[in-house]
Amino acid sequence: MKTYDVMVIGSGFAGMAASLFAAKRGLSVVQAGGTGGIDFSTGFIDLLAVHPVAEQRVWEDPFAALVALRRDLPLHPYAHVADDEIAAALEEFTGFLEENGLCYTGRPGRNTLALTSAGTVKPTYLLPCSAWGGVEALEAKAPTLLVDFHGLKGISARQIAEVRADWPGLRTARVRFPGMGGELYPEHMAWSMADQARRIELAEAVRPLLGDARFVGFPAIFGMTDTMAVVRHMEELLGRRVFEIPTLPPSIAGPRLRAAFDRGLPALGVRTYTQKLVSAAEVSGEMFHFTAGSGSTAVRIAARGAVLASGRFFGKGLKADRHAVREAVFDLPVRQPEKREDWHRAEFFDPRGHEINQSGLETDAALRPLGADGRPFHPRLHAAGAILAHQDWMRMKCGAGLAIATACKAVRELSQNL
Ligand SMILES: Cc1cc2nc3c(=O)[nH]c(=O)nc-3n(C[C@H](O)[C@H](O)[C@H](O)COP(=O)(O)OP(=O)(O)OC[C@H]3O[C@@H](n4cnc5c(N)ncnc54)[C@H](O)[C@@H]3O)c2cc1C
Repeated sequence: MKTYDVMVIGSGFAGMAASLFAAKRGLSVVQAGGTGGIDFSTGFIDLLAVHPVAEQRVWEDPFAALVALRRDLPLHPYAHVADDEIAAALEEFTGFLEENGLCYTGRPGRNTLALTSAGTVKPTYLLPCSAWGGVEALEAKAPTLLVDFHGLKGISARQIAEVRADWPGLRTARVRFPGMGGELYPEHMAWSMADQARRIELAEAVRPLLGDARFVGFPAIFGMTDTMAVVRHMEELLGRRVFEIPTLPPSIAGPRLRAAFDRGLPALGVRTYTQKLVSAAEVSGEMFHFTAGSGSTAVRIAARGAVLASGRFFGKGLKADRHAVREAVFDLPVRQPEKREDWHRAEFFDPRGHEINQSGLETDAALRPLGADGRPFHPRLHAAGAILAHQDWMRMKCGAGLAIATACKAVRELSQNL
């Protein structure tokens, strides 16, 4: 059996990032995981936008927010990652996506307000280039036509325009998507947009509606693999700036990201086991032995180090019964509220969030999870992403950024110890 340098447990943002960073540093990497938040994501990469959550304070400068966060919450995982490492990790991550056909953009050191499918705006740090026209149109309140489709659920141009009463130049139109009828699915539409003839037909349907619009917004359907080429072609056909708005999950933002990793990680030599969860882990002084999957298709994997990036409840890295929260692979101690009745506050929408959403693994400064004795469980086991304690990524708006930054830190620390 081959022994790998690193076993990455999880294939969400944190697991994908850990595999990427480890492979780029010359380590041999094996990864196993199932569906994670990445499959449902909007495609936005949040760094940090809200702190303190109780005050709902929104920051334009995420690095200034990080200074305040580290001062107020010294146990937050971001306290273990320096700003320059965070910036470098994001650059390396988006560089990899670019090499694999997914363009990302943003303003260095500033959050951007991105238009959502509900018509609201969301502060985020990096967003797909295909959505950038929407940012510019919104900021300038430019004359814009928002198009949606008969049969496509999860996004209504009219609803967006109603919510955006502050944007009088926003008009809407509903058209038929060429070549399809009945209920439409973004993934099918995106694949069909690979066909240039389909784009020409769509442009013909939209052209008579353009009026004075300088921008035209569409639900995110512009291809699965080379979105910007589709956007540019549509711009050529319509003579207007064109942008996408992510639809509600499951949108195509997740499959686009996953496809980029499915192409790019094996090309870097990463051995990936998709849709296989680690069902057993044995730890000896020097080695980890894992079983991924179950039954006749189970595989045995040996590694000298590991990054645990198995997420929280959604990813299945943590499991909760009626009494307690447990970590699913190593049965590591989980920091959690002392009593079951403290898991949630009385009001679901309490701006302070719920205690249970801060639960997870306690680590040392090298992001090594602590065992029952309060010391690192293993010298070469590190953790990254949503499974880390003392953070509520959803309310702080730091999901993907935290996953990428902690994956980078975990891999750097591990590589020094192999
Ligand atoms: C609906 C939705 C929208 C989101 N939108 C945004 C957004 O706009 N911006 C943003 O920054 N973030 C967003 N996120 C958050 C982001 O997608 C990630 O969930 C978050 O960054 C945490 O990533 P993670 O990799 O730590 O965990 P997860 O994404 O939860 O991934 C955990 C991974 O571990 C795997 N796993 C679990 N147990 C095992 C096991 N035993 N063996 C092997 N693998 C295992 C899972 O299968 C999964 O692949 C969104 C998430 C969701 C769900």
